[in-house]
Amino acid sequence: MEEQKGGLLLVMAHPDDESMGAGGLVLRHTRNGVAVHLICATYGEAGWMGRPHGSKAADLPEIRAQELEEAAQALALSSVELWDYPDAGLAHSDQKELTQRIWEQIGKVRPRVVVGWGPDGGYGHPDHIAMGACTDAAVAAMTEGERPALYHLAIDGQLADFYHEATHLVPSSNGFHVRPQDTVDVVIELDADEVMMKLRAIDCHQSQLEDWRIALRDHPRLMQQGYGREPYVAVSSRAAGLTGKGMLGEFA
Ligand SMILES: [Zn+2]
Repeated sequence: MEEQKGGLLLVMAHPDDESMGAGGLVLRHTRNGVAVHLICATYGEAGWMGRPHGSKAADLPEIRAQELEEAAQALALSSVELWDYPDAGLAHSDQKELTQRIWEQIGKVRPRVVVGWGPDGGYGHPDHIAMGACTDAAVAAMTEGERPALYHLAIDGQLADFYHEATHLVPSSNGFHVRPQDTVDVVIELDADEVMMKLRAIDCHQSQLEDWRIALRDHPRLMQQGYGREPYVAVSSRAAGLTGKGMLGEFA
């Protein structure tokens, strides 16, 4: 199959970031024929939650790679680069090498837009922060004519309220320590069908479904409010803004 050039490149840290963080953005593009590529830096082997039932921690890398493959199908991703940097250890990995590898992948895929984690790491996750910084550096290192637009995943006030409410659906939940951005540039609002498609991708990551995400099924209004809302910060001005179709920049 000939590799599609152009489109979006999503640069993430863990299997499930792509679905839980940016599933709507991805679907909105792939459903309109725009190629979306993914880099995932780790197998997520530190995310052991005792799931699926009967599995053991040592099986987790294999389980999560399989889950990512299924999510990639649900999202219709064009390609997935799954790297084996240590989960929970990205900040202590070779930042130069990470940046170089992201830069090489940008050169190969030639995306119009790169989407990565911002300096807040979504909810302060050190892997997200490190991967986001390397992604920023890789984009900045592209020559000006070839440099894609850059966006960061973001959490705004409304989404922070959702996480607060949703995580408290389960009494034992630790909550989710999010610090909302003061301003975001793009908010993608998904319709009910798109939320269901995003949910299908999220559900591929069975080993990572916290109790509150399962409880959320019984609260469709809350699910629409949270899964149906994806804010982004535009880092570079090129291709900034969202068109009437909810597509980023130049793809409408
Ligand atoms: Zn993550």
